[in-house]
Amino acid sequence: MTALFPALRTEQDKPALRFGDRGLTYAELAAVAGSLALDLRARQCSRVAVWATPSLETSVAVLAALLAGVPAVPVNPKIGERELAHIVSDSAPSLVLAAPGAELPAGLAPLTRLDVDVTASAEAPLPEEPGDEAPAVIVYTSGTTGPPKGVVLPRRAIASTLDALEDAWQWSADDVLVHGLPLFHVHGLILGILGPLRRGGTVHHLGRFSTDAVAKELAGEATMMFGVPTMYHRIAVEVGDNPELASALRGARLLVSGSAALPVHDHQRITEATGQQVVERYGMSETLMNTSVRADGERRPGTVGVPLRGVELRLVDDAERPIAASDGETVGEIQVRGPNLFTEYLNRPDATAEAFTDDGWFRTGDMATRDPDGYVRIVGRKATDIIKSGGYKIGAGEIENALLEHPAVAEVAVTGEPDDDLGERIVAWVVADGEPPAQRELAEHVARLLTPHKRPRVVRYLDALPRNDMGKVMKRALDA
Ligand code: ATP
Ligand code: MG
Repeated sequence: MTALFPALRTEQDKPALRFGDRGLTYAELAAVAGSLALDLRARQCSRVAVWATPSLETSVAVLAALLAGVPAVPVNPKIGERELAHIVSDSAPSLVLAAPGAELPAGLAPLTRLDVDVTASAEAPLPEEPGDEAPAVIVYTSGTTGPPKGVVLPRRAIASTLDALEDAWQWSADDVLVHGLPLFHVHGLILGILGPLRRGGTVHHLGRFSTDAVAKELAGEATMMFGVPTMYHRIAVEVGDNPELASALRGARLLVSGSAALPVHDHQRITEATGQQVVERYGMSETLMNTSVRADGERRPGTVGVPLRGVELRLVDDAERPIAASDGETVGEIQVRGPNLFTEYLNRPDATAEAFTDDGWFRTGDMATRDPDGYVRIVGRKATDIIKSGGYKIGAGEIENALLEHPAVAEVAVTGEPDDDLGERIVAWVVADGEPPAQRELAEHVARLLTPHKRPRVVRYLDALPRNDMGKVMKRALDA
């Protein structure tokens, strides 16, 4: 394969990465990552864990591992003991890379620690890069539906997904990305750091997301932003009364949301205040990116756009029969095939085998409909978001979107729970904005907007929804 990061060889003084007031040009990045890569090769490491704080060091460590052909395992710096023990024993790294001075938990103590020096100035030659199928990064899934699994991503998957996004988003070396996501998942690491580096562009990482910092960056050099729905939600809540934020967003080339569904209501509020339409894309640890709304295509809120270049996508019914592309209405599971796919779940041949059909389609576990012109509408996950009630199959997402249109609903998650009459009854877990409305009022609101059988039978109020580091609602943790 040609180099994953050609700009490391061609760009010199162009800024590559900036975290706060520290940054590296492409020449500096090539020197520090190149010398660390040679060191990793000399030590004959099998795998390296990366203590993935949002930092220059994390970015350099992962890049060096990629250049060296040593699989990198990014670790959430807020990880708990049990999950860390699982990741360390599962992935068996031979050492851990961390920023100097970073305090590591006891679970990493048995590993040799290597501090990442981002100030090294020696010109180290860049090593020959490994082949396409070499495992590059092992990312643990978010654990939304079960314990996290280690997803082995080859270099081929990373290159092909980033090139497909170049096509869909007209992503170029001139783009400056404003980034406030963590670096231990696909979104923040592969799209947010490796993406701009592959394009030869620039990343400005915020350290911590804030709407003020976003406004400042987008009013300055930044051209695009990647965020998760919780970030766009905060923007949607503030943007109507914050003229600086509104004008900064208006000037952006591209605002991209992913990792979970962005409620239609948030799309609408942002568009009303700024004229911008947020672009949604849909991906997973296992598949990297599958679909996106195109920068040059129609933006259609409530959809995740069309399959990316090179990605085959189909919907199948319960018997895994393909649903016709012209259907437009029937809900089916999304299956995908293409060069963007992972190779296997680490140490889980059973789970890997279960995830694929005989002819190589990956079962995403996500349920959707598809407009006849190809736009995909995700209705939820097979495991947690499809409620079988009164003989109907009901997607939680549609009800959540409807409830969010009620002025007293700030946040909501909809689940199903066993019911003697209905099979399952619809439960709405609501964070109220002010005085909690009566259950009947919310039920009538949904019945009026959708249909009566989609109304919640039970409403439970919470102070906050259980969310993980990416802002995803952990429905497993919602229990009466
Ligand atoms: P686990 O697999 O461990 O249960 P997870 O599926 O949340 O956790 P990830 O791989 O980080 O782990 O997330 C992928 C999932 O995120 C997808 O399968 C899909 O359900 C959801 N997702 C991603 N982007 C979108 C989007 N734009 N709209 C709706 N859902 C999305
Ligand atoms: Mg998953």
